[in-house]
Amino acid sequence: MMLAICDYASQVRGKGFPVSALPNREQVGMALAPTNLMINAFGQTPATPWAARGELLMMPDPETALLIPGQEGHPESRMMLADLVELDGSTWFGCPRDALRRSLAGLRDEFGIQILAAFEHEFNFTGVDNRLGDAYLVESVESAGVFPGSVLAVMRSNGLIPDTFLAEFGPRQFEVTQTAVLGLKAADQAVQVREIVRRMALRAGGRASFSPLMEPAAVGNGVHVHFSLVDLDGVPVTFDRDDSNGISRLAGSFLSGVLRDIPDFVALTAASGISYDRLQPDRWSATYNNLGHLDREASLRLCVAPQLAGVDPASATNFEYRAADVSGNPYLVLGALAFSGLQGLRENLSRPHVTNTAPETMRPAERDELGLVHLPRSLGQALERFSHSSRLTGWLGSDFVDAYHTTKLGELESLANLSDIERVARYVAAY
Ligand code: GLU
Ligand code: MG
Repeated sequence: MMLAICDYASQVRGKGFPVSALPNREQVGMALAPTNLMINAFGQTPATPWAARGELLMMPDPETALLIPGQEGHPESRMMLADLVELDGSTWFGCPRDALRRSLAGLRDEFGIQILAAFEHEFNFTGVDNRLGDAYLVESVESAGVFPGSVLAVMRSNGLIPDTFLAEFGPRQFEVTQTAVLGLKAADQAVQVREIVRRMALRAGGRASFSPLMEPAAVGNGVHVHFSLVDLDGVPVTFDRDDSNGISRLAGSFLSGVLRDIPDFVALTAASGISYDRLQPDRWSATYNNLGHLDREASLRLCVAPQLAGVDPASATNFEYRAADVSGNPYLVLGALAFSGLQGLRENLSRPHVTNTAPETMRPAERDELGLVHLPRSLGQALERFSHSSRLTGWLGSDFVDAYHTTKLGELESLANLSDIERVARYVAAY
């Protein structure tokens, strides 16, 4: 059984123990050095405030048990995700899972709401031919052999309900989604889906890479987060048929808080040295902090419910955050959305403007009036904004912000003398 955490590089790392020792491990946890959180995407820790000192405990959360059944030539595989606590059992300030929990607690305790979310993953699978014209080709799914079905079966047997699977636009690019679940579980499932896809790709004789880019000029791999708000009984509170965009007052405040902070928290969601090469026009990702009506190049896309019998607009209306990729730790991605939305609610912000045109085609004065700003153009710029955001520091604490910032700066420095092709190749290998 592997006991794992998802670290600041959004990598899943941990240690194994015999399954029979689980009852004991649930009580006493498993030791981990704080510096382990700061291992960057390339497996290095060029700078850390703790160096070799300190001790944390990984405390398993049985709710996150993942079991991938064995099959010929492949042993059964088990994983559980952990919270990070101090030796006295108190929460460690740098735990990503706890950062999300705090945001969710604010939404629940102050406004009686919960966030329903699903992470949508794009990735590249090497086990199929790079066939010319294979974008969305039905045959591409077939040509992946047992791989797609095995991913879906393992998801299902672990309680993740598959929603869609498809061949995406790029060469050998696929996408998998599961149905939305509440809060922490949505982030846990994002971690689990990545592990399931990676393991089943290996079993199918290939490799899956979620790298934000596979080649400098090719289409990227996004991680899009669909979300909506529900009350404590699970009743949707996002939709209002009296609003021209169908957005409730409450959801409007939440969204305005998110939009305001996207430029500051994008360092948490697009967190690699190549992420900002994906966040470019014409790549179907995002460049401005806008809420776009059905726009796949907006940071937030308003996903309007179809007006068809059998579709309840109250539960089908949702929003999709698109400025994320695999380098963003799912707990921090959802945590940032929840925290910034919570701030919007606390300040009772009014509903945001919904764009119908691309912000880059607007006059600068018009963008200013609507509060639309270009997202940072590099991870360096994004980190600069992140580390100076008093709101985000209020959520995470300055020690957390410093540790994250240091981890990412070290990663960026290691890319300094590489060409674009080499930088992308490093991330393809890492993710
Ligand atoms: N591959 C695009 C991205 O990098 C998204 C394509 C889509 O809309 O699904 O986010
Ligand atoms: Mg897609």
